[in-house]
Amino acid sequence: MTDNEDTGIKDPNKVALQAIQRIQDEGLPASPEIYELFFVYYSGVSSEVTRSIDIMVNQNFELTAERCMELYRRYLDDDLTKQALNKAEQIVGDTLNGVDQIMDNFKISNKHFFGSMEHINADVLDAVDVKQFKSLLASIIKEAQRMVTENHVLEKKLEKSSITMQQLKREMEEIRAEAYTDSLTGIPNRKKFDLEVVRLVAEAREEATPLSIIFIDIDHFKSFNDTYGHQIGDQVLRLVARAFRDSLKGQDFFCRYGGEEFVIILPKTPLKGAAHIADILRQSIKNKDIKNKATNEKLTSVTISSGVAELRNDEEIDKWVSRADNALYRAKKQGRNCVIVSEE
Ligand code: GH3
Ligand code: MG
Ligand code: MG
Repeated sequence: MTDNEDTGIKDPNKVALQAIQRIQDEGLPASPEIYELFFVYYSGVSSEVTRSIDIMVNQNFELTAERCMELYRRYLDDDLTKQALNKAEQIVGDTLNGVDQIMDNFKISNKHFFGSMEHINADVLDAVDVKQFKSLLASIIKEAQRMVTENHVLEKKLEKSSITMQQLKREMEEIRAEAYTDSLTGIPNRKKFDLEVVRLVAEAREEATPLSIIFIDIDHFKSFNDTYGHQIGDQVLRLVARAFRDSLKGQDFFCRYGGEEFVIILPKTPLKGAAHIADILRQSIKNKDIKNKATNEKLTSVTISSGVAELRNDEEIDKWVSRADNALYRAKKQGRNCVIVSEE
């Protein structure tokens, strides 16, 4: 076995072959993400990835592309964010060091200038004729010119640092936006929900306005995937996300909460209004024509079930969220493709 200096992984060629073999054996698509997942698994560099895959295998869960992608998103995508943040941190450190150095140079250059001026000052007192004055004046001008040139160089360096920092700020904003976006549908993800729910509850309490939440889950999605394949399943998830985007108002928040679950938070909306919106969304999804893009074949329609709850005075956020989740559970029990409100 050989140690590879770049990756720190023992025998990366063998690990790569093991990963490819496993992807073939499981009948998985050889996407870069799934390849990376199994490469990480066989290299043993992530105990979390190893443990999660081992648990799934031990419990006889089929390693579907969807489950692999969940693991990838949970453990490896975040690593990318961490790597990007580490890189950003390094650039900030380097730039700050650079600025420190510029300031040090500036101090040295100032000290030098004032040292020369003190000298000249002393010489002026001793000067006896115009020739000596002229020569001293020439020295002052030379020193001042040197100072101007040096300051110009320092200014340019500072300007460059400032541009680097601005660029970095933009990159950090992009990284942050990415971290809060669901990569499949392009809408906000659960992490964003965790932030937004706190903000919207605080706002509703401050303004004393009603706030409602809708939990949504696609019905029988497992069998839809089993019938038509995951790619078409993914297409449906994007379609549902698009339907929400088209139907909701700017102030409403919606996200992919996970898997085939979505959550909508409706500011300034009481229970009845929220239930009405949930029903409009339910009908709009049910009436959508779902086609296999490749063959144009029309597929069975998809339905969603929803649970709705309005925030009560002094209610804990978790309690409110779980009331909506329980209502969704009841919607499933009642036969799906329906909206249930939490009124208890
Ligand atoms: P129910 O009506 O009770 O909700 O049944 P269900 O089959 O929708 O629910 P279940 O929880 O048994 O299965 C959820 C399925 O959703 C499993 C998985 O195949 C599918 N799913 C979750 N996330 C994704 C995804 O990102 N892409 C695709 N294509 N399918 C997903
Ligand atoms: Mg579900
Ligand atoms: Mg479901």
